Amino acid sequence: MEKIVILTGAGISAESGLSTFRDEGGLWAQHRIEDVATPEGFARNPALVQGFYNARRVQAAGVKPNAAHKALARLQRDWPDEVVIVTQNVDSLHEAGGARNVIHMHGTLAGAFCSNCGNRWTAPSEMAVGEPCPSCNQPTARPDVVWFGEMPYHMDEIYAHLASASLFAAIGTSGQVYPAAAFVHEAQAAGARTVEINLEPSVGASGFDTYILGKASETVPHWVGQLLAQHS
Ligand code: NAD
Repeated sequence: MEKIVILTGAGISAESGLSTFRDEGGLWAQHRIEDVATPEGFARNPALVQGFYNARRVQAAGVKPNAAHKALARLQRDWPDEVVIVTQNVDSLHEAGGARNVIHMHGTLAGAFCSNCGNRWTAPSEMAVGEPCPSCNQPTARPDVVWFGEMPYHMDEIYAHLASASLFAAIGTSGQVYPAAAFVHEAQAAGARTVEINLEPSVGASGFDTYILGKASETVPHWVGQLLAQHS
């Protein structure tokens, strides 16, 4: 059988209207990573960080999945073996496009997390500074997203999937942020074929067997169609 593991990044959501980290003029361009995406930044200025994620949450709530998200859901549905989607994205567009069991290694905008007791719950659309945790009542609520310097979620599960993959695809990710950037090597060590789908080869792209270049909304449905045709 042929298990497929797919890693997605900001590029798959770009055509839905969510800016990637390197886009000019996007939310990220107005802030330094150190200020809004680190635990130290949150400790220094929680209002700035909550405001930044509140804005991203509102933006994410107003967009729709594009043809690439839907094509991956179709692959999950119609492929005869397991298709695992691991995403670095904190939006919910894979799920909105019909995908199941998506592994959010960098957390989600939809979630809140208590740094005091570890409780998780659904985030309100606007999180206030010092918002109390519904479980321990401490003012230690934060967005349930993984910041630089923190350990991504579900790593044991992801490595187990990579170790049993026959095909690994990285879609719309710049390959600059570890550990996700090294998944291609893990998959290759396990004997998987590897393909990168992106506008241009990513920074760490030397490791892939195949490259498919172009907009995700066009390349991903085409790739999925070819895979399913080979197995029909
Ligand atoms: P990224 O913005 O670094 O890269 C996006 C990639 O998508 C690029 O390689 C680009 O060529 C590609 N792309 C853009 N539009 C596309 C389209 N329509 N079709 C196909 N590909 C397209 O995003 P990333 O790789 O997801 O970033 C990884 C992680 O880094 C994020 O989850 C985040 O946690 C973290 N992060 C990165 C930065 C940064 O500056 N790189 C900043 C903050 C956080």
